[in-house]
Formats: sequence, C-alpha cells, structure tokens
Amino acid sequence: MAIYDPKSLKAEEFINHEEILDTIKYAEENKNNIELIDRILDKARPQKTETGYVCKGLSHREASVLLACEIPEKIEEIYKIANEIKLAFYGNRIVIFAPLYLSNYCVNGCVYCPYHIKNKCIPRKKLTQEEVKAEVIALQDMGHKRLAIEAGEDPKNNPIEYILDCIKTIYSVHHKNGDIRRVNVNIAATTVENYRKLKDAGIGTYILFQETYHKESYLELHPTGPKHDYAYHTEAMDRAMQGGIDDVGLGVLFGLELYKYEFAGLLMHAEHLEAVHGVGPHTISVPRLKRADDIDPSQFDNGIDDDTFAKITACIRLAVPYTGMIISTRENEQVRSRLLHLGISQVSGGSRTSVGGYAGYSADERPHDTEQFDVSDQRSLDEVVRWLMENGHIPSFCTACYREGRTGDRFMSLCKSGQILNCCHPNALMTLTEYLVDYASPETKEVGYRMIEKELEKIPKEKVKGIAKENIIAIKNSNRRDFRF
Ligand code: SAM
Repeated sequence: MAIYDPKSLKAEEFINHEEILDTIKYAEENKNNIELIDRILDKARPQKTETGYVCKGLSHREASVLLACEIPEKIEEIYKIANEIKLAFYGNRIVIFAPLYLSNYCVNGCVYCPYHIKNKCIPRKKLTQEEVKAEVIALQDMGHKRLAIEAGEDPKNNPIEYILDCIKTIYSVHHKNGDIRRVNVNIAATTVENYRKLKDAGIGTYILFQETYHKESYLELHPTGPKHDYAYHTEAMDRAMQGGIDDVGLGVLFGLELYKYEFAGLLMHAEHLEAVHGVGPHTISVPRLKRADDIDPSQFDNGIDDDTFAKITACIRLAVPYTGMIISTRENEQVRSRLLHLGISQVSGGSRTSVGGYAGYSADERPHDTEQFDVSDQRSLDEVVRWLMENGHIPSFCTACYREGRTGDRFMSLCKSGQILNCCHPNALMTLTEYLVDYASPETKEVGYRMIEKELEKIPKEKVKGIAKENIIAIKNSNRRDFRF
C-alpha cells in the first residue's frame, strides 16, 4: 500500500487514496463540530498587515470539513470569507481570456470527450498556420489579449513542433492595435524536454486538468491511449516545473467522480506542488461536464448541482488564497455571476470551442460541427465586459506579470505585498481603456469610462496615479498601447 507523502514525486504517494478516504471520513465526522469549524474559518480569514493582507490557507483536511458542513450560517460565513479573500488579493478585477482550439485530432479514448478516437461522426480538423492567423485576427478584433490554446493529443497530427509553430504564429500577429500578449497552453501531459520547449516559446500558464484523481475511475474513463497512464498524467506538473514552467494550472472535471474525493485530491495536488517546488498552482479551474457530440452528461452519475458547485468554489478559495480561479463559458450567466463573488478571478468571454470557430463568423453565428462541448454563456465579449462592469468588476486584459518576470513565487509575493493597488489595479484600468477605445460598443464605452474615472482614485500612490492617468490619456488620443507597471 502506498504511503501518503506530499513531497514524494510518485502520483500514488502525493495523491494518496487512503489519505483521501480518511479525509472524507474525518470531514463527515466533524461536519457539525462547530468549535472546529469556527477555528478553521478563523484560520482562513485574511489578516491585515502593515502593507496589505496575508492568509494562511487551509489544509485539504480542514477545507474538507468546511465542504462537508451543511449548517446554513457556516456556509454563509464560508461565502463571505471567500469574497473577502478574493477582494484582498485580486481586488475587484477579473482577468479575461478566450480559448483557441487548434486541432481536435486525438488518439485518446476519454469517454466524456467528443474528441475521443472512436467518435467517427465528428469532423476532424487541424488549423493551418494561415488559419491560426485568421483566428487570432478575429480574436484580436474582439479585443482579446490572452488566449488558452487547446488541442487533442495526437503525436502525428499535433506534435509539439505543431504547437510551437502555432504559438509563434499567435505572437507574431499584430492586427490594427491588437496583439496577443499571453498564450496559456492546455495540451496533454508531455516530457520535460517538451515542457522546456513550451517555456522557451514564451508560454504563460501550462494548464492540465486531472479530470479525476480517483485512479480506478481514471483508468475506466481513459480506457485507451497515452492518457490512460494515470501516473504519467498526475506527475505532469512536476515535469512541467522541472522544464522551467513556473505557472501551472490545475483542475478536475466535476461530474466524473464524487466531488468530495476530487476536492481533497485537488488540494493535495496543490500542497504537493508547494512542498516540492516551493510554489503552489498559479490557477485552478472548475469545469463541469457538459453535453457534447455523442456525450450525454447524465450518463455520468456524479453531476453536482449549482449550490454544491458554489460551495466547492468558495472552499477552494479559502484553502489556496493566492491561486487564481477560473470559470469558463461552460457555465451560464447566473452561475458565473454567483461565483464571481466566491473567489473567481478569471473568466473566458465570447468563447468558441470548435476548431476554427472565430474567423468568418458573426457574433451570433456559431459552428457546432467540431465543437468540444456546448457553451452555456454565449454572449459576445462586449456583452461580458459590460456585464462585469455593471456588477462592479473591472474586466482586466492585463498580462504584465509574466512579461515582467513576475511568475511562480514572485507573483505570489506581489499578491502578499499589498502593492496590488499600485500595480495590478492601474494595469487593469489601462488595458481596459485599450479595450474600450479599440473595440467596445458605445454603451460599453460609456459604462467603462465612468468606471475607470472612479477606480483611478483608488490608486494609493499619487505618482502611480498620475502616470496611469497620463497613459490613459495617451491611449485615448493616440495609437500608443501596452503601458504597464
Ligand atoms: N488533450 C488535452 C488533455 O487531454 O488534457 C487538452 C484538453 S481538452 C482540449 C480540455 C479539457 O476539456 C479537458 O481536460 C476536459 O477536462 C475538458 N472536457 C472534455 N470533454 C468535456 C465535456 N464533455 N464537457 C466539459 N468539459 C470537457
């Protein structure tokens, strides 16, 4: 039997089945232990320091107790603290991105994904570099600055060289005032050497969803193909970090296995990265299983309702306070609205999950033939940006941190330093101005400029405030772009 060891590099030791079962049992036994719950909530609360806030975070056991707790007042308290943590470290900014599907060729047999090899109905498509360019122009014309590239796993059709060529193409396109300044990558687990190549290509975050931490289920859900190898998949983030990638993004696909199991596994993975590499995950995504070509989510027994989903999100926020949290357009406007107050710091907008879904289509036309899953939030980016602002969030197109070398633990230090209002806040306002000037509708411009005026006053350092104001005037009156602190 494998023994639990967060510092081990072996999947079954750092994601340890017995430890997860014990955690779930411990949480169940303590779900009404008010004294313990209050102690855990106190530990999770942000503490004010001379320069900003600090948070201790929670262990997977502590966070699991909160997740198991069904006492309404305590759940409200969890939600309140989740929002406080989000505001303490990320302010009211929400980072915006879009996925770009490069290829749906895939040799894996993942039973929940329509790209699985046995699906003979779905048309297979891989973008040429000319098509990548057209997609990037379409995304730039919407106003995007940050992409997450997505591809199936297929060593013949989508080898690492293809992915690297696409990254190069994406960074090379500068249409009108547009450019893509950060490319995050969501491709299958690979070798240290390939991760090093991705790092050298200038990627932002390397994202890989675990799908499920439950090994037995994992093997059944991934019956064939290279992804069947549980250890290789689970140990991928260690190889990515060995290859020099500081920012990695975790996630599970909720709906495949019991959520309490996944929750404990996810936090153990975060603790493992912290224990071995000295820095936790840069982001955690919370995708839920969706309907797709030849996939019916009701075939899977472990779907979770919106309340449970909200609780999971808030408990993750309490456990890993400095990690960014991402919600995609798999979720509808109502769910996204709610989660924005429970810790989410990044959202996608105007997304298409088909290969070649952007170029040549108007905002309300969407191709379904090569789509990975149904998109619930089908609003345009302009609508998403306006909706965020009308609800008090600043949509941010900022990509400054990684371009200034603030990755890994340097990003985490910025989070803790209290300098966010002098750095991320003006960066968000300057990039939002770029968006408004270059791409927004008149209604969105109006809401946006009003918000920017108000938000500029929150910058504590007079000098920084002055520079931000000057830069915003320059963006409005010229084609000068890409100012950053
Ligand atoms: N091929 C890479 C891999 O295996 O990790 C890239 C991933 S795929 C393009 C992106 C993610 O979509 C997967 O990791 C999976 O979690 C998610 N996904 C697959 N099928 C889905 C479905 N039916 N509903 C929602 N998300 C799904």
